[in-house]
Amino acid sequence: MDAEVYRVLLARMLSVEVQRWSTQISFHGGGFRRVRKLSEAFLETAASNGVNRALVAVDNDGGSKKCPEHEHSHTPEQHGAKEDDCRVCWLSQAVPASWKGTSHRACIVVPIQTLETWLLQLRGDDFGGRPPETRYHRSQLKKQFYGHPLPPNARCTQLALEQLARPDALDRLRERKSFQHFAAQLQGW
Ligand SMILES: [Zn+2]
Repeated sequence: MDAEVYRVLLARMLSVEVQRWSTQISFHGGGFRRVRKLSEAFLETAASNGVNRALVAVDNDGGSKKCPEHEHSHTPEQHGAKEDDCRVCWLSQAVPASWKGTSHRACIVVPIQTLETWLLQLRGDDFGGRPPETRYHRSQLKKQFYGHPLPPNARCTQLALEQLARPDALDRLRERKSFQHFAAQLQGW
């Protein structure tokens, strides 16, 4: 579901058709650690198959004392040494140098806590009078967005895409600093 949400988001932000490139490298079931572990191999294989733009994303899974939000002033070595440090900085270290120039570009996307936080923001849900960045519980966020019990994957994707189809979707998302960081990386794509 996340991959499809990101595909549709990229298409809207860039005003172009975006296709997901498929490979035998599977990220399934391994969570954020698997994404980081396989990113280098994935990007290098993609480059050798003619792909030159990529989106690499994990959830933030933050808390009041772990995974702080990314700041412009961060340096990956200093702020991304461990997985509980800034996830943007942590993940960016898995992007090979060949993907950090002008010919090949990878954007690092880490929504606040989970992708569902962005979806709840889009839908205009209440975060208990607090900033969405301070709502940490993944399962609660997912239940709030999809309902309980969790519907099948196809229905979850449908619910997410309904929110992305809102005319004001990008404006609403740009209210979040984590989304601004995503959008800023697409300059020149
Ligand atoms: Zn950072």
